Amino acid sequence: MASNTVRERILRSGRRITPQRDAIAGILERAEQPVSAQELCDAVGEVDPQIGRATVFRTLQSLMEAGLVQRITIPGAETRYLLCSTAEHHHHLVCRECGAVEELPERGVASFLARVEREHRFLVDHATFDVYGTCARCAGREPEPAARP
Ligand SMILES: [Zn+2]
Ligand SMILES: [Zn+2]
Ligand SMILES: [Zn+2]
Repeated sequence: MASNTVRERILRSGRRITPQRDAIAGILERAEQPVSAQELCDAVGEVDPQIGRATVFRTLQSLMEAGLVQRITIPGAETRYLLCSTAEHHHHLVCRECGAVEELPERGVASFLARVEREHRFLVDHATFDVYGTCARCAGREPEPAARP
């Protein structure tokens, strides 16, 4: 089940709260990392075995159109879905180690895009990109370098 905040966002997007939307939004909301369609199918099956794979994809599509869910496409890896805190345009910082995703608001990339406009004399109207790397938690967990000889 999704929280009231998420349910309100579904309603405000002009959609009804169906059991499928409620279940899938709830799973994504509780997930600490973006979830693949297969993981979502497995998790949904535990909540409601009636919800099949096609329904999972259809529901994801409607939650994406509603601006609640976004997709992370990592080259060479499975597409993953996450519940975003806002329907407003933003970017993501994706940790390669643990898969955690942090939101990067547009103001975080605005100065970069302004420089692209200046240096390339190119008027930017839209940019989509995610940033990959290592999150602070994972960086902090790096093992100490081996004892020096
Ligand atoms: Zn997001
Ligand atoms: Zn990490
Ligand atoms: Zn942007």
